[in-house]
Amino acid sequence: MLVGGIEGGGTKFVCAIGDVNGQVLHRERIPTTTPEETLRRSVEYFQAQQAQRGEKLAAIGIASFGPVDLNPASPHYGFITRTPKPGWSYADVAGTVRRAFPHIPVGFDTDVNGAGLAEHRWGAAQHWQTFVYITIGTGIGGGGMHEGRTLRGLIHPEMGHILLPIRADDPLKRGVCPFHAYCFEGLASGPSIEARWGQRGETLPPDHPAWELEAHYLAHAIMDIMAVLSPEGFVLGGSVMHQRQLFPMIRAKVAELANAYFVHPRLKTYEDYIVPPGLGDDAGVCGAFALAMGALEEAQRD
Ligand code: ZN
Repeated sequence: MLVGGIEGGGTKFVCAIGDVNGQVLHRERIPTTTPEETLRRSVEYFQAQQAQRGEKLAAIGIASFGPVDLNPASPHYGFITRTPKPGWSYADVAGTVRRAFPHIPVGFDTDVNGAGLAEHRWGAAQHWQTFVYITIGTGIGGGGMHEGRTLRGLIHPEMGHILLPIRADDPLKRGVCPFHAYCFEGLASGPSIEARWGQRGETLPPDHPAWELEAHYLAHAIMDIMAVLSPEGFVLGGSVMHQRQLFPMIRAKVAELANAYFVHPRLKTYEDYIVPPGLGDDAGVCGAFALAMGALEEAQRD
């Protein structure tokens, strides 16, 4: 059985064909231009792959950049909502794909939620029922997962914008988020590291003080989310987390902040509690496959 996946990003759409194990069989990068052109090329990719393979796709999943409307009762369900990206405000992403493939289920969610679901299905969170996936890169996004589904309320969680106190010795006087002076994204995203130290994070050595401060903010956010949701674990992905030295630093700081208040055998070292993604660089595309699989399973239940 084949599924299609679209990892919809602000600079490129990665369209891919996968199997039920989340293996990428083929992929193509389509630059993000206008919604009309980008979505038309995405649809054509899947049509061409079906024709070439002589096999229909069982479902398609779309893991999209946001903000998106995930409320099935909304007239804008499946749309990107208001975005600074020119031409993309109120683009009907899921609807365009559905109209092109009317006979198969089409799953749609944020890229962050997609990646979290993929970690649950095939990656580092396979044994957790309730967990949190956080991506730390150009922005910060967090998805809460419960029993294989993403937590959704009025809109979707925006864990990147929980408010954090700025540390007195932080060279930044204000976070980089235009909406909030001191939020998680504004203080700990890739652009905040660059604004603070005058160079991109990946150019800083592993023992640079940047990482101790980064771990400080990440640990505060994780401690707060732990207190609210009591997840069974955290998967931390995104380009900033390629700095693997952050993991032991974050675990030690969370343990220090928690001050032995949370009592559970797994919370003695946090070693298997705060972990890197299991799917590595395929996380985005696998997220789209996971949304396809979820949509297919839901259709089979109905
Ligand atoms: Zn913010």
